[in-house]
Amino acid sequence: MTFEELEIINPILKALTAEGYTHPTPIQEKSIPSLLQRKDLLGCAQTGTGKTAAFAIPILQHLYNDNYHNARYKKIKALVVTPTRELAIQIEESFTKYGKYTGIKNTVIFGGVKQGAQTQALKKGVDVLIATPGRLLDLINQGFISLKNVEYFVLDEADRMLDMGFIHDIKKIIERLPKQRQSLFFSATMPLDIVKLSQKILGNPEKVTVKPEQTTAEKVEQVVYFVGKRNKPKLLSHILKTEEYESALVFSRTKYGADKIVRFLKKAGIHAEAIHGNKSQGARQRALTNFKSGNTKVLVATDIAARGIDVKELSLVINFDLPNISETYVHRIGRTGRAGASGLAISFCDTDEKPYLRDIQKLINQRIPVVSDHPFPIDKNDETQKIPTQQQEQRQHQRHRPKRKPAAQNGQKKRSNNNFNRHKRR
Ligand code: AMP
Repeated sequence: MTFEELEIINPILKALTAEGYTHPTPIQEKSIPSLLQRKDLLGCAQTGTGKTAAFAIPILQHLYNDNYHNARYKKIKALVVTPTRELAIQIEESFTKYGKYTGIKNTVIFGGVKQGAQTQALKKGVDVLIATPGRLLDLINQGFISLKNVEYFVLDEADRMLDMGFIHDIKKIIERLPKQRQSLFFSATMPLDIVKLSQKILGNPEKVTVKPEQTTAEKVEQVVYFVGKRNKPKLLSHILKTEEYESALVFSRTKYGADKIVRFLKKAGIHAEAIHGNKSQGARQRALTNFKSGNTKVLVATDIAARGIDVKELSLVINFDLPNISETYVHRIGRTGRAGASGLAISFCDTDEKPYLRDIQKLINQRIPVVSDHPFPIDKNDETQKIPTQQQEQRQHQRHRPKRKPAAQNGQKKRSNNNFNRHKRR
């Protein structure tokens, strides 16, 4: 299947070729035909599957065919609502890339920054608005935005919206939308409250599922290290020093924890930056830009800040803390192994986190191979375990290069140690 066969118009095809997209991803192949027929869509897919293009391409195509690119006075015809600023920025970048030969105008609005530049952009007129819920409602209430001309509505990462407490904002936004519209609803997981919310928004939708299990099992190699809480920073610095990777994203459960990890790594001679909600928008963007350009190889992030981080060469994800919500694990490891590339996800698991690991394995229906041969194994006296001195640690590093032992019973391919090159994206 090619994009031509999906009947994508030339101005968009040209942009896709420029991006190096040769073939649609499964979600694109499944969604684009019905979206071009203006059907509603319920998409069960996580970031990393190519879902942004799956909705952006048909919307751009409709707007182009409806001749809105020539409209003298632009009105918001398409609205994409997404939970985080980073994701909003990334979606806007995608619309800009895919739409660069269409003349369709888009802009992005999100909270945490002054509104001046955003309202200026809105005043000039846009066809597509990408927004986080809070700032969107705020600017609607101030009279800068009207949704009465919206014909295409996308609710992205609905499960995360609910997790972040945006449900009331979402309901208020929906009330303001015209009844006659095409609606798209994306969520990585489909618990009951998400299904109910989708029913409020969608008519009789086409359903498209790209299973997270497939993404995790087929593309991302996963391993777990059992390690005591106190030794996690040392194990992290050990792994980052001994392994080869293009770029690594480290997940911390808390903002404070993320800063602490960065400080520890700095002391260990590893440059890393943190990205989380307590950082200013400018600092977050700078850290992201440095990471994307390769100036910073290690980014430490909380789940919410990392949502939607899209880095082409992301070969390694490390779960410094295991998430207590299993779906979050799927989101996290989806940061690597994107759009056909392979990647590695390493998880640290301390004694308290073992129940989380069980839940995760149940969700992904897979046993994650354990790497037991490493310098900081967990033991019964873990909490009182003596932390080795730097010299001892160095000696240990030399003696114990970690050898992953993919458990044979998992039927997973054995991989050699220190060989991340296999995971590089083309
Ligand atoms: P998304 O799930 O939208 O965050 O997309 C994940 C990544 O896949 C992004 O880096 C996109 O640029 C990339 N991508 C999307 N569609 C394709 C495609 N058809 N071919 C190659 N890469 C793609």
